[in-house]
Amino acid sequence: MNERQEMETLRAELERANYEYYVQDAPTMSDYDYDHKMRRLEELEAAHPDWKTPDSPTQRVGGAVAEGFSEVVHQVPLESLQDVFSMEELSVFDQRVRETAERATYDVEPKVDGLSVALEYENGVFVRGATRGDGRVGEDVTENLRTIRSIPLRLPEALPRFIVRGEVFMPKSVFIRLNEERELNGQPLFANPRNAAAGSLRQLDPKVAAARHLDILVFNIQYAEGKTFSTHLETLEYLESQHFRVIPHTACSTIQQCSSRIQAIGDSREAFDFDIDGAVVKVNSLLDRQALGSTAKFPRWAAAYKYPPEQKPSTVVDIVVQVGRTGVLTPKAVIQPVRLAGTTVTNATLHNQDFIAEKDVRIGDTVLVQKAGEIIPEIVSVLKEKRPEGTVPYRLPDRCPVCGAPVVRDEDGAALRCTGAECPAQLQRHLVHFASRDAMDIEGLGPAAVKNLIDAGLLKTPGDLYSLKQEDLISLDRMGKKSAENLISAIEKSKQNDLSKLIFALGIRQVGQKAGQLLAQKFGSMDSLSSASEEELSAVPDIGPITAESITAWFSAPQSRHLIETLKEAGVNMESHAGPVGDTLSGLTFVLTGELSGMTRKAAGERIQALGGKVSGSVSKKTSYVVAGEAAGSKLRKAQELGIPILDEEAFIAMLEQS
Ligand code: AMP
Repeated sequence: MNERQEMETLRAELERANYEYYVQDAPTMSDYDYDHKMRRLEELEAAHPDWKTPDSPTQRVGGAVAEGFSEVVHQVPLESLQDVFSMEELSVFDQRVRETAERATYDVEPKVDGLSVALEYENGVFVRGATRGDGRVGEDVTENLRTIRSIPLRLPEALPRFIVRGEVFMPKSVFIRLNEERELNGQPLFANPRNAAAGSLRQLDPKVAAARHLDILVFNIQYAEGKTFSTHLETLEYLESQHFRVIPHTACSTIQQCSSRIQAIGDSREAFDFDIDGAVVKVNSLLDRQALGSTAKFPRWAAAYKYPPEQKPSTVVDIVVQVGRTGVLTPKAVIQPVRLAGTTVTNATLHNQDFIAEKDVRIGDTVLVQKAGEIIPEIVSVLKEKRPEGTVPYRLPDRCPVCGAPVVRDEDGAALRCTGAECPAQLQRHLVHFASRDAMDIEGLGPAAVKNLIDAGLLKTPGDLYSLKQEDLISLDRMGKKSAENLISAIEKSKQNDLSKLIFALGIRQVGQKAGQLLAQKFGSMDSLSSASEEELSAVPDIGPITAESITAWFSAPQSRHLIETLKEAGVNMESHAGPVGDTLSGLTFVLTGELSGMTRKAAGERIQALGGKVSGSVSKKTSYVVAGEAAGSKLRKAQELGIPILDEEAFIAMLEQS
């Protein structure tokens, strides 16, 4: 056998092994042999790159990172389904079908809650795969789909063109593992397997997609050149013969049979390793389907039965409050354990104070609990007739249960948030923000490094950053001598930052980078900012009353004062490099146009702002002065039309000097 033949044989053997393992769940090749053959094929492909093919099993591990996804126009649109929510609605569907196709029979399948994709094959080779998109145009996610082991890359029968449709999903077991890992790494959790699958399929890096272990169930032939079928069941059998993992399906001759099958699927939904959000009833005969046709949105020959979420009563044993990384207080009801949709549920989210007040959930209440699309169970209602005597309405605490700092309600929502500048629950987020480029700009102190330092017990509050020692750092994982040195010197350097950066770094709500600059210019030092009254603060242009209140509240908290003291003692600069702002130009708006000979326009703008004036980019009736340099254009003309005073460079400089 020459090397080329050997490659072909290896590919066929490995694909066969994939099929047996991932589709049939009946492996015949040992892991050892599989790995061995894969290694040999990789070697051969490396030696003969020209003989590499896109359908080779070696291509399943994820290739190069993409820059984006290109659009794919579906040859056959990926239609949506009409929903039915009760058995009555299902029989109305059946009656409509029978008006056209009197003897229709059906097929019932679980409705997999994932993402619809179309897989295209040319001459039996997988060439392209696309998401559903709007049904007509989707995105090309071929590279990511190739990593799904149950998608055959080469089919036993090589039709010139063949398109199938299926649902990509994340197996529940994979989902649980993935979220556990993400929690450990401090990454946001996926709400449900569907979101996780969607996120994974749209990864630009196919290696990430490969690591997510997605799977697929196919349920339709969209197009098969040179092949005809007369029923849906025949098409599913053909798909099986072509090594696809095919949706479980049951033939039913009456709608009553469909209905019991739907019930049975609903009862056993926990047994599937994929989430389902319903069951699909489809007319079996393809001729009947043609006669029934489609509306603008969906085929008339199919219906999706949606299961109501399962609900069970339980009692609220306690209400506990957790503080998230962003400082939001989340109340949770601890309930008497109940079995719900296959798992034992011991607590339910209460979202926020408004939710609790609206439903009037109290400790001791009997409540109805359900698990909807999300993984976290929720309380649907309180069974008031079962309320024991002596219960009281529940109110969230007005102090953070972790650090004791006051909590405030978000300006734009129902969330309550801890204001503690040194709250341990928020330490990681505070520090990442503190060190970020627009704040204290400490290079080398990104999320991973921060986590590392916190885990090692070296940081308990943001102030601890400035007492870190090189020796402490070197003992850490993934921290060499050089990086420890660099980090210490970056921390050291940050002490010289302008006050504006420090103000922003404190993470006071409402105080962004711009406000940091305005406040630093206006007050000139941390001392004078921290003792400013709400009136003084709101007098600064662009600082509104809500921001002013947030600033005074922040500085009044003992934790904040402690933080400022620690930073001061460490030698962090507390003064504005620009010095305090005058106010002789306050209330005046300037527009700069043309070229000045003595300074740049940017410098001129800064001088105006330093004296309390505002700079605007366009001339209007509200403009106080237009400063016109050489070669001034349309802005000057507009100023003349509106009769706005115009200053030449000399007059402008005289005004600055007088001020
Ligand atoms: P909807 O998006 O709610 O209109 O439901 C239609 C979607 O259900 C289709 O886009 C498919 O992605 C999905 N689906 C899941 N399982 C099946 C199935 N067995 N047959 C047809 N569609 C299915």
